[in-house]
Amino acid sequence: HQPNANGNDNGKFSNANRNRKNYSSPWKQKIAQQRKSLPIASVEKRLIEEVRKNDILIIVGETGSGKTTQIPQFLFDAEFCRDGKVIGITQPRRVAAVTVAKRVADECGVELGQKVGYSVRFDDSTSNSTRIKYMTDGLLLREALLDPYLSKYSVIIVDEAHERTVHTDVLLGLLKRVQVARSNSIGDGRNLNNGNKSSPLKLIIMSASLDARTFSEYFGDAKAVHIQGRQFPVDLFYTRFPETDYLDAALITIFQVHLGEAPGDILVFLTGQEEIEAVERLINERLTKLPEGSQKLLPVPIFAALPSEQQMRAFAPAPSGFRKVILATNIAETSITIPGIKYVIDPGLVKARSYDPGKGMESLIVLPTSKSQALQRSGRAGREGPGKCFRLYPENEFEKLEDSTMPEIKRCNLANVILQLKALGVDDILGFDFIEKPSRTAIVKSLEQLFLLGALTDECQLSDPVGWQMARLPLDPIYSKALILASEYNCLEEMLITVAMLSVESIFYTPRDKYEEVRTATKCFASPEGDHITLINVYRAATDLLEKRTMDTNKAKSEKVLRKWCKENFINSRSLRHARDIHRQIRGHVQQMGLKLASCGDDMLQFRRCLVASFFLNAAVKQPDGTYRYPTQLRNSWAGPSGLLAIYSLCSKVIHTLQIKISFCYLFLIAFTFTSKKKNTLFASSHNRALASGEVVQIHPSSVLFRKKPECIIFNELIQTSNKFVRNLTRVDNLWLTELAPQFYAMQN
Ligand code: ADP
Ligand code: MG
Repeated sequence: HQPNANGNDNGKFSNANRNRKNYSSPWKQKIAQQRKSLPIASVEKRLIEEVRKNDILIIVGETGSGKTTQIPQFLFDAEFCRDGKVIGITQPRRVAAVTVAKRVADECGVELGQKVGYSVRFDDSTSNSTRIKYMTDGLLLREALLDPYLSKYSVIIVDEAHERTVHTDVLLGLLKRVQVARSNSIGDGRNLNNGNKSSPLKLIIMSASLDARTFSEYFGDAKAVHIQGRQFPVDLFYTRFPETDYLDAALITIFQVHLGEAPGDILVFLTGQEEIEAVERLINERLTKLPEGSQKLLPVPIFAALPSEQQMRAFAPAPSGFRKVILATNIAETSITIPGIKYVIDPGLVKARSYDPGKGMESLIVLPTSKSQALQRSGRAGREGPGKCFRLYPENEFEKLEDSTMPEIKRCNLANVILQLKALGVDDILGFDFIEKPSRTAIVKSLEQLFLLGALTDECQLSDPVGWQMARLPLDPIYSKALILASEYNCLEEMLITVAMLSVESIFYTPRDKYEEVRTATKCFASPEGDHITLINVYRAATDLLEKRTMDTNKAKSEKVLRKWCKENFINSRSLRHARDIHRQIRGHVQQMGLKLASCGDDMLQFRRCLVASFFLNAAVKQPDGTYRYPTQLRNSWAGPSGLLAIYSLCSKVIHTLQIKISFCYLFLIAFTFTSKKKNTLFASSHNRALASGEVVQIHPSSVLFRKKPECIIFNELIQTSNKFVRNLTRVDNLWLTELAPQFYAMQN
C-alpha cells in the first residue's frame, strides 16, 4: 500500500486491506501464473532500468505481450508513485481504458476505483487513492486545461500511439512542452501547482507497430526498446471474388467455422454498433434453425456504447458447450486482447472520419483497412496456438491496400483541437510542434469555423465568455455552442436532450430494408418537423414511463419495463440508456457553468430557430431533382480561392520570421474577407458555379423527413456509403438562415 500524500482522504482509505477483494488463493495463483507467463514478465527489471535512465522511452511490443496491463504495475512496484503521484495511461478508446482498468484492479486484488481506476468522458471511477489511472487521450487533454503541468503524474504512458488518433498526436506535442516546463521549473527551484512539489515527468510511448522511428525522431532520437512477442502461425484464407454483401458473407463464414472447425472462439471485425447489433440478431435468428443437440454459439458484442459490465462479457470464457463469437469494432485490433480466439473473420473494412477541408465537410466513411491493420487483425488468431483468418475479399485486393492508415489529424475537422490548444495557451496553431502537421487549409478552415461560431475574437483569441465556455464543455464545438445558444432561446432542456441523443450511434433499430416498417411502428414519436424533435419525443416518453414506475417498483424492475417498452417500439435500449447517462452529465456541466435551464414547452418553433442559429453550417437546400446541395453557400471567403491562401501562407511566413503572432495575419484575412467581398449567397441559381460545386447529398431513408423532402434542412451527420446521406435533420425556413446566421449568409435579391 502506498501512503496517500494528498492528505485529502482523512485516512478513509489508509487501510489498503479494507479495499482488497477477498479472492480465493487458487484464483490468485491462476492470475499470478498468467502474469508470469506473459512475454513482458521476463524483462521487468530491464524495462524499469530503462525508464529510470530515460525521460522518454518508446516501447514497441506485439499485441498481447502485456504492455498495457503489466507496465503500470511494474512502475508502481518500483515506487514511481511516491509522494502520492499517479501513473497515467492513455488509450485512444474508452472501451480499452475501462476493460483494462478492471482487469488490472482484479490482478492487483483491489476494488476498481481504489489503487486502480479509469476515467473517460462521462464516466469516472477514480478516487483520491487511485495511483494507476487509465483514461482516454482526450480526457488527459482536458485535464491539462485545469492543471497545465499535469503535476499529479509522475509517469504518463501514451498507449497505442500507432493508432495516431488526433488526440494522441496533440497530446504528444503537449506532453513534450509539459516535460520541458517541469524540468525547467525544478532547475528554477519553482514549485508548480500551489505548493505541490514538482518532479520531472517521465514519458513512455507505447506502440504495437514495429515502426518506432517516427516517435523516436519526434522526441529527439529517444531510446526505443522492443519486446519480443509470441505468435503462432495463422493460415490465411481469401474469397475467390469480391463480396457484394459482406455482412451476409460474414454470417455464412461464422456458421461455416462453427459447424466445420475445431473448438476455439471466433472474432469478427465489424464497423460499428449498428452493424454489430444487426449481425447479433441474424446469428440468433439462424441459431433457432440449427438441429437440436449441435454445439451452441454465443454471440458477444463489444463496442464503446455498451454498458461496461457487458463489455467485460467478451473476456469471460464461453460457458461449457458453447463457442463464443465476438462481434467487435476495430477496438479488438490492438487495444484489447481477448483470450481464447482461434478464428478471425475480417471483412477488411473500418469506419473512419474523413474531412474535406476545401468544403469544410466532415463525414463518416467506411473504408478498406490498411495492410498493417489487416495483419494486426489476423494476428489475433495466433495468440495462444495456431489459428485461421478468413479475409472476406480476394487476395489481389490485399496487395492494393495502403501500407498503413493515414493519421487522423490529416482527415478530421480541427475545430475541437484548436479550441483546446487555444484554451491551453497555444496561440500559434500553425507553429505548434505537431508530430505531423495538418494541412494549412484544414487549420485555416477550422479557425474560420470557430470564428463563425463566435468562439474566437477578431484577434483570434478565445472569446469571453463564449469561447471559454465552449472549451470547457466536453463536446464538439458545434454542440457546445448549441447549448450556450439554447439558454438564450429558452430551450436548453430540449437542446440537452438533443445533444445527448445525437451523441449515441442510433436510437432506433432499423434493420436494413425495413425502414418503412420501423417508420410505421414508431409513428407515435414522429414529428413532422424532423428527427430532432422526434428524438426529444422518444426521450420524454421513456422518462415519463420511468417516472410513473418509480412510485411502485425498484430500479431493476423499472429498467426491465423500459427494455420491454424499447423492444416494442424498435428503440435501442442500450443507446437510450447511454443517452440518458450523457444527458445527466452534460446537464451537470451546464448547471455548473450557470447557463439558464429552461424549456420552451410546446413552442418548438423557438427550438427549431435555435437549431438554425447553432447548426447553420450544416444547412442544405433542395434542388429541382429532389436531392440536396451542401454546403449551401457560396464560398467566396478565404478557404476557397487558392490566391487568398497563397497570400495567407506568404504572410504567415514573413510574419513568423518577424516573430509577430500569427493572429495578426488572421485578422488581416478576416478584414480582407469581410470587407472586400459580398457575403455568401443562399439563393443562387443552379447555374451558379460555386453552388454547383457543393456536394449532392440525400436524406437518409431512416429520417422521418425521407418522404417529405422539405425545401431547406439543417442536419447533424453526413455519412458516405454508395451515396452521401444526411441524417438527423429538421425542416427549417430558409429565411432563418440569413436572419439567425447573418455572419455567414446574406441575401442576394
Ligand atoms: P498488450 O498491451 O501488450 O497488447 P495486454 O496487457 O493488453 O497486452 O494483455 C496482456 C494479457 O492480459 C493478454 O493475454 C490478455 O488476454 C490478458 N487480458 C487483458 N485484459 C483482460 C481481461 N479483461 N480479462 C482477461 N484477460 C485479459
Ligand atoms: Mg495494449
